[in-house]
Amino acid sequence: MAADANRVIDSLRLDDTFLDEEHRALREVLRRFVNERIVPRAADWEAARRVPGEVFRELGELGLLGLSFPEELGGGGAGTRGAVVFNEELGRSTYGGVATSITVHTDFSALHLARAGDDEQRRRFLPDVLSGRRICALAVTEPDVSSDLTRLATRARRDGDHYVLDGRKTFISNANLAGLFFVVARTGEPGSGRHGLSLFVVERGTPGLSNGRTFTKGGWHSADTGELVFDGCRIPARNRLGEEGAGFRWMMRGLDHERIGLSAQAVGLGEAALAATVGWLRERPAYGRTLWDLQALRHELARFTARLSAAKTMLYHAAARADAGEDPRTHAAMLKASIPELVNELVYKCVQFSGGAGFVTGSEVERIARDARFLAIGGGSTEVMLDEIARLM
Ligand SMILES: Cc1cc2nc3c(=O)[nH]c(=O)nc-3n(C[C@H](O)[C@H](O)[C@H](O)COP(=O)(O)OP(=O)(O)OC[C@H]3O[C@@H](n4cnc5c(N)ncnc54)[C@H](O)[C@@H]3O)c2cc1C
Repeated sequence: MAADANRVIDSLRLDDTFLDEEHRALREVLRRFVNERIVPRAADWEAARRVPGEVFRELGELGLLGLSFPEELGGGGAGTRGAVVFNEELGRSTYGGVATSITVHTDFSALHLARAGDDEQRRRFLPDVLSGRRICALAVTEPDVSSDLTRLATRARRDGDHYVLDGRKTFISNANLAGLFFVVARTGEPGSGRHGLSLFVVERGTPGLSNGRTFTKGGWHSADTGELVFDGCRIPARNRLGEEGAGFRWMMRGLDHERIGLSAQAVGLGEAALAATVGWLRERPAYGRTLWDLQALRHELARFTARLSAAKTMLYHAAARADAGEDPRTHAAMLKASIPELVNELVYKCVQFSGGAGFVTGSEVERIARDARFLAIGGGSTEVMLDEIARLM
């Protein structure tokens, strides 16, 4: 039933148009992994408020942690389209927290090693990252700084062959799980704006790095989210990725990729919500027939199917252009400004049409509604994305 419900979207044949044979094979492997290794276990992870480390290692054994890394670095060479397939299939699991925890590692943090790292840094860190022996996190957000990331205040003061980090990062996904943190900190003077930021790798166990609070949240229950505290945290200067002062540029490159990935997660969640709701309506007896026979409900879901199909086409187009070497900035902002909002509208209706069953904790649409919510905020909120688009108009 679920697969049937998405047959209109599948009939677009986006995979045939935009993906290579390898991407299509990858989707099959991922779908099997999600169905067999994630869905049956994820309720326990929701309760535990984290995805266990062994899941990363299982993904690593299958070569699924480095899909977006170039082949010459031991990755899958699957590019942005591979990342879209990966994020979308994890979203289809209906567990947004699992998708986040895994993709923060695979796509939103460690890829900085491929972009900005040198050979020595890649040799030192990549084997553990690609095998899942060390989980990764991205530490940008700070308690006293809003979305204006040019004002990040965590300091990284040069001291001989070292930097000393002081400050606090908040809302960090994988904060407790991770062994490697990709941290943006200020090497310039306070007030030096975007040109005063640099990017670092900080290893768990470094004196002066500790975990602060861990947050419970309204959704993404299986994603571990917490604070990091840097208090005289002394790291070798060779842990700086790229030039001093280039951190903002690397961070924004990463955020473009993240925005495409989060949009793909939203598409996956949206498709799963549609499938669950259509399946439910078709079986739910009402007025001597089923709820699906009520045109008001059917039309609304048909409308969202058409809108989601358009959004997904734009997503695949954007990924293909990125793989062709184009700067993805504008596409990424447009996707992130529109797809999570659309999916939130869609899942509101899915909960509504599921009646009481859609409000009960543990039902797929109830969880998707909770988990989709933050996709319109995290990694660049809708409003910040609109600002970005407006600047280009
Ligand atoms: C569960 C969770 C996981 C997260 N994971 C990570 C992570 O792994 N790493 C990390 O670094 N961060 C992470 N974050 C932080 C997340 O990316 C930010 O919360 C998000 O980008 C929004 O920033 P903010 O919370 O500072 O909101 P604010 O910037 O304070 O925004 C508040 C409101 O103001 C609006 N606003 C802000 N700027 C503008 C503008 N220019 N124009 C119009 N409106 C505007 C926003 O859209 C929003 O509605 C996570 C957060 C959560 C809750």
